[in-house]
Amino acid sequence: MKLAVIGSGAAAHAVLAEIRRRQPGATVDVYDAAEPESACAVPTDPEHYNAVYRTLKQREGLSFPPPKSHFGTAVDSRPQAQMENNWQRPGGLTNYWGATCLPFSDEDLRLLGLSREQLDPYYERVAGLLKIAGDANSKLALRHQHRFIQAAPVRRLPLFEKLDAAVNDPASQRFVAGSNCVALDTAPESPTSCTYCGHCLAGCYRQALFCSASDTARAQQPETIRYRKALVERIDLDSRQIVLQGRGQAQRSEPYDRIFLAAGCVQSTAIALRSTGLSQAVTLYDNAIVQFPIVYTGRGVPGSKNYFALSQSLITCSESGSLIQVYPFADHLLRTAVPELLWPALRPLVSLLRARLLIGRLYLHSDHSHQYRMKLQAGDVAMTKTREPDQASAQPIIAALATLLKPGGFRVLGALTSGTRTSSHFASTLVDAAGVSPQSGRLAEHVYCCDAAMFRMSPALSPTFSIMANATRIAEAAL
Ligand SMILES: Cc1cc2nc3c(=O)[nH]c(=O)nc-3n(C[C@H](O)[C@H](O)[C@H](O)COP(=O)(O)OP(=O)(O)OC[C@H]3O[C@@H](n4cnc5c(N)ncnc54)[C@H](O)[C@@H]3O)c2cc1C
Ligand code: SF4
Repeated sequence: MKLAVIGSGAAAHAVLAEIRRRQPGATVDVYDAAEPESACAVPTDPEHYNAVYRTLKQREGLSFPPPKSHFGTAVDSRPQAQMENNWQRPGGLTNYWGATCLPFSDEDLRLLGLSREQLDPYYERVAGLLKIAGDANSKLALRHQHRFIQAAPVRRLPLFEKLDAAVNDPASQRFVAGSNCVALDTAPESPTSCTYCGHCLAGCYRQALFCSASDTARAQQPETIRYRKALVERIDLDSRQIVLQGRGQAQRSEPYDRIFLAAGCVQSTAIALRSTGLSQAVTLYDNAIVQFPIVYTGRGVPGSKNYFALSQSLITCSESGSLIQVYPFADHLLRTAVPELLWPALRPLVSLLRARLLIGRLYLHSDHSHQYRMKLQAGDVAMTKTREPDQASAQPIIAALATLLKPGGFRVLGALTSGTRTSSHFASTLVDAAGVSPQSGRLAEHVYCCDAAMFRMSPALSPTFSIMANATRIAEAAL
């Protein structure tokens, strides 16, 4: 059997795992526009992070808050019009993600024509790839029926235990909190385990966070899987050939028995539009994020120099379905604002702030988020913004959280909220425009779309665990 997978991010990774399971002898071509050698270089030089911050300051100047919404230096702050160009590294956006993994609810899955009962076996399979760390007995994990936690939770700052206790007040059922459920290596004996160096926002030097490119490398792909650097223009749906973008005449691949499209929601939608020639517009969603500080004014708790700098606690709200990721105050936030010479003197102050200051990031459902229109125009896909997020819809949720946290000594500074340009949690209405069944992912005979281009909307919960589970389900049925 001759198979093609377009993309090498999370969705493609899940498809490849399923191919290895069901068709181990198949020949597979993986098409990705990124340079293969740019995959997840592991810097071992202790100077690495100093160089990262020097580069950032040269490029962006001194600024607070940091000028980019993506982690690591490798992602440039991209203008809106270019945000679909995500082919900088094999592994796609998992090079930069926060690795939070929560399963969707039945309500979230309804638009996909699926239920938790149907998707749970695939969540289970994907959990074997991601090795999710978390506390399976937390109120959060129990409410979300998160039965897929396989590793010890991330070591947290004491302030987060206090925060969870304040949220999980037995008198309130609206919010639940718990340790982040995160695809992070927390096994102390592992060569890639988290060292709590606190540099996550400048890119993990140790590959402790799951990245599909490094995991693919570790899994030692059989020789039957070939990586081909190429920018895919479209798929010839009749002949099942892949048409590549290039200078001069477009190149065509040989025909494949199956093609799996997993180029990330934005690019997969564009490739599908070019392949089908569909004249109808597609709506693209991107979850809005509303950020706000939380200050602890109670009796002192210890801070720490060693910490995990991404979200340590998750809070979800049952009424709105919103997710709040709570981050420690990270060195990254101040370091980008001060000259490098002053940094050694300021660093101890930041350690102290970690015992008092947290950052909440509230994700809104796509109904209240950024919205774009994608349409085929003269053979290419034009993308225009059609809606700004409704940040005001976050205010009642933030106010209710503030009331809940107050007796525990936490003050939510709701007046200091700010938005971000993108969360990179995309979904599109491709299936509706193309009249395709979201359950099968089938664009044409033996051609399947396997990522969030099939999702129709984006619930507030982080999408990638569900993207991978659904990609596994689609690949299983197709193979
Ligand atoms: C800063 C940040 C934090 C995030 N945090 C989280 C989180 O905590 N939890 C969570 O669930 N999600 C998070 N996400 C989102 C998550 O990264 C994405 O949902 C996930 O990576 C999507 O996987 P994908 O395989 O669909 O697409 P991608 O990861 O975008 O992969 C697409 C692949 O296709 C390739 N490609 C694209 N176009 C073409 C083309 N025309 N031809 C050939 N190849 C092409 C790209 O090079 C890439 O390898 C975060 C994202 C960012 C940026
Ligand atoms: S703290 Fe962050 S950067 Fe450091 S090892 Fe852990 S995940 Fe990587």
